[in-house]
Amino acid sequence: MSTPLPVTLDLCAGQALDCYLEHLAEANGMTTAQLLTVVRGERGHSTTRFLMLHPTRTATTRLACMARLGAKDVTAATLAAYDGTALDLAGLDPDDLYTYRGVAARGWVPGHGTQICPPCLAATGIWQLAWRLLTVTVCLTHATYLIAVCPGCRRPFRDQRHSPLRQAGTSTQCGNPLGRGPTRQCLRELTALPTVRADPRCVAGQQRRNRAITGATVCVLGTDVPAVGYLQDLRHLTTLLLHLANQPGGLAPVPWANELAAEAAARTGQRGPRWGMRPPTDPALRSRALSSADDILTCGTVDDAAAAFLPWLQTVPRTATGSLGWLANRTVMTPTLTRIIIAAHAPHRTLAHRLDTHLGLDTPMCRLPQVLPNILYRATCADCSTPTPTPCGCSRPCAWPARTPNPPPGVRRPPRCACPPSSACAPPAPAAPQCR
Ligand SMILES: [Zn+2]
Ligand SMILES: [Zn+2]
Repeated sequence: MSTPLPVTLDLCAGQALDCYLEHLAEANGMTTAQLLTVVRGERGHSTTRFLMLHPTRTATTRLACMARLGAKDVTAATLAAYDGTALDLAGLDPDDLYTYRGVAARGWVPGHGTQICPPCLAATGIWQLAWRLLTVTVCLTHATYLIAVCPGCRRPFRDQRHSPLRQAGTSTQCGNPLGRGPTRQCLRELTALPTVRADPRCVAGQQRRNRAITGATVCVLGTDVPAVGYLQDLRHLTTLLLHLANQPGGLAPVPWANELAAEAAARTGQRGPRWGMRPPTDPALRSRALSSADDILTCGTVDDAAAAFLPWLQTVPRTATGSLGWLANRTVMTPTLTRIIIAAHAPHRTLAHRLDTHLGLDTPMCRLPQVLPNILYRATCADCSTPTPTPCGCSRPCAWPARTPNPPPGVRRPPRCACPPSSACAPPAPAAPQCR
């Protein structure tokens, strides 16, 4: 158990814990390294390994005592505050390093560093917690895209190697360590970085995502759904659109596909970009992809959503597994995605389905000729072609006369002979009445 520090501060709304601790260290005349030493206590580095994702019970207790905060307040300043909405941290034990693998495998987990809004940082000096979420791409206060990479060192902001706190403390300079040691740091002033105004669609999409991140229900396909369901649908559909937009041929129906090609080319490896694990780094590009997915999910009905997805379906490459298999291999098929994709495939369904549902045939499907494998045909149907006696006595099987009205459902058509009356198998003429 640690003791309270001489000077304590209030946590600001939305302030990230690392930012708070840097201000707390400065207010008490400590370096960030000294403050972390107190937090770690005897447990060492492992206590703060997941400080911003989900602090250990030991670290939470120590921080709450040092800053005279409640344990819930400390947790609310970390990404654990979004567990169950924007993030799924189920199974994570911050004391067990290996449990993180299961969480990371779900994809779109904030890694090292954070995004920033330079005007917000200049106005308040506060690093907001929500900037770390990959589904947050726009600052609604300034209607500008966030920035993810420092133009000075080409690395994410707050990309500390071994410490969750910056050596630069509360400075608004980048402070990322350069080289191997902590001595050299990036001195780029972050509050002066230029910003780009966000598209209105991206702003509207961010407003919906922000409501969902706070736990509010969101309308999807005309129905209000829980926030976690909407955010999962949005993430997995965005992943799918990213894969489709990355297909060669320039068939993607969105202009941001060209920007995506540049980012995809920068990612090496024969497996290609794994958008389900890590979406595009550029917040503007990521925001446009999220907005394209949101445009589909905000349709009022499944049929409207399927119509909106149909142009994307044309970009699916022809493979042996078919388009459904290709799509399912590149994202998580949530129930909502499955409904949309199946509905979009309706015009491309099998011949049997289309004959039965789209052409209005007056012949039952059971009467349509089917193609069977030869072995199966011989084993089961060969005997069915044995000629049956007909009223005319013809030994040959009678063909069904064409252009004759179909019998009512459930009534078998009576066998009729199609042989011409003059043929040898014509039925004998009725015998003439004999005189008695
Ligand atoms: Zn801002
Ligand atoms: Zn930098």
